[in-house]
Amino acid sequence: MSNRFIDLAAPGLAALKPYVPGKPLSELERELGIRDSIKLASNENPLGPSPAVMRAIEAELGNLTRYPDGGAYALRSALAKRHGVEPAGITVGNGSNDVLDMIARAFLWSGRESLFSQYAFAVYPISSMAVGATTVVAPAKDYGHDLQALRDRVSDRTGVVWIANPNNPTGTLLTEAALREFVASLPSSVMCVVDEAYFEYVQHGDYPDTSRWLGEFDNLIVTRTFSKAYGLAALRVGYGVSHPDVADLLNRVRQPFNVDSLAQAAALAALNDVDYLQRSVEVNQRGLRQLVEGVERLGLDYIPSHGNFLTIDTGREAAPLDRALLQQGVITRPIANYGLPNHLRVTVGVEAENARFLDALGRVL
Ligand SMILES: *Cc1c(COP(=O)(O)O)cnc(C)c1O
Repeated sequence: MSNRFIDLAAPGLAALKPYVPGKPLSELERELGIRDSIKLASNENPLGPSPAVMRAIEAELGNLTRYPDGGAYALRSALAKRHGVEPAGITVGNGSNDVLDMIARAFLWSGRESLFSQYAFAVYPISSMAVGATTVVAPAKDYGHDLQALRDRVSDRTGVVWIANPNNPTGTLLTEAALREFVASLPSSVMCVVDEAYFEYVQHGDYPDTSRWLGEFDNLIVTRTFSKAYGLAALRVGYGVSHPDVADLLNRVRQPFNVDSLAQAAALAALNDVDYLQRSVEVNQRGLRQLVEGVERLGLDYIPSHGNFLTIDTGREAAPLDRALLQQGVITRPIANYGLPNHLRVTVGVEAENARFLDALGRVL
């Protein structure tokens, strides 16, 4: 589509495609005139918010006329303690996407290279291209990161390499030894981002908490989010853990009040709500098994997942299946935009939602 103002825009915008979010429930229901649709499209927590979080937000409502604490003192202190770092090493974001965007603005510019894998999270190219950096894509192996292929593409122009572990949209996982060897092999001039948005869900015994490596690798930035297992997607809170000097640079490009006061209070309450997190993880484990068994019964292939979603190889173009599922009131995510036109990514819901999805999928196949 042509844009009258494209010649006036920053050069990277010509090739940039906007992020496509999952369709909101209200929009689908308006279009179809139905009421009981389910959304399994955006890897959201199906449990609803924790009561402790709702109480924390209510307690904060009286302060709505005030700017939030721009330094997020209480939240950053709690996060620093959790990760065993100084608060100066914590950068809060309006969702972790905000932190990813700060990383791009701090460490990438025209002439620099931004390196990631085939099937990488869509925000990496968006933030990189917006600042005029050149994107370099390494081929994937079995839908996951091929660390040798990534390492082979590091050049003296590489500013940032981005790795989601587990990866979205494929759910694949890198183990401790492999990822550590890769990070250690990087020149210290390359910032290595490990995006751990699904950290809390992972059950694999060899899965690394890379925030524990920060004493060893000054060029490492670990990002986490409250949007998934903590169930706060609407509030937009995430954070980065890094060397304090790296955090200092991120803070130079950070908007002063990027995390609002309700979000800060909610995140702090969520951190302390151990029961909710545990329930999130249990429901996810059971739901993932339910989806895998159902998909196998339907004779479909899938990518084994370590997150809160399952990416299914439908064996045919997934877009028409997606449209048919929408007619049944089930929103999932076809991922042709990631170069996987036959795959459908479905978020793990509660048992009844998973059952309804499997039933609808069986009918539309
Ligand atoms: C969901 C997700 C995020 C989190 O985004 P927020 O901005 O924190 O909501 C980050 N990275 C990946 C790979 C994700 O899938």
